[in-house]
Amino acid sequence: MNIYSQTLRVIKIFHGTTVDGPGLRTSIYFAGCEHRCPHCHNPESWDMNAGESMSIANIIEEIVENKFNVTFSGGDPLYQNIENLTLLAKEIHRLNKTIWLYTGFTIEEIKDDEKYKDLLKEIDVIVDGPFMIDKKNIDILFRGSTNQRILKKNKEGLWELYEEYNK
Ligand code: SF4
Repeated sequence: MNIYSQTLRVIKIFHGTTVDGPGLRTSIYFAGCEHRCPHCHNPESWDMNAGESMSIANIIEEIVENKFNVTFSGGDPLYQNIENLTLLAKEIHRLNKTIWLYTGFTIEEIKDDEKYKDLLKEIDVIVDGPFMIDKKNIDILFRGSTNQRILKKNKEGLWELYEEYNK
């Protein structure tokens, strides 16, 4: 199997964003989301067929254009082919770039699921949980509502609050 020819469904790739994690980042917005959060900021991303099919090779080509770290957003990236998303994440780590993942699932829903095990090894930070309009807060960092948490892996490989950013 040529891993670089495997594909993912991408709506858009932004270079140099400052809202999807610290510093300048390359944000990849993947298609598809079934969480259907009321007042979602981006309902056009819910369609699994939105955007275009991109090979891992083409996505990597865009990522190496700059020194930015990478964010997976959407939609919810966890509705992608997880095997292919894991291959992409491994390639990004080989480039010594960190990966932030935004998902509408909570960490409790995904951390022990075999399906996501290999992918989560390649993720540095997770911003978890659905957007909740009654918990909306425009003053918090990198999140839309206060139920969402920014989580990083501790030395034991367990996910814990990233205190620096949960403000
Ligand atoms: S998880 Fe994100 S993209 Fe999906 S419905 Fe909720 S806010 Fe929208």
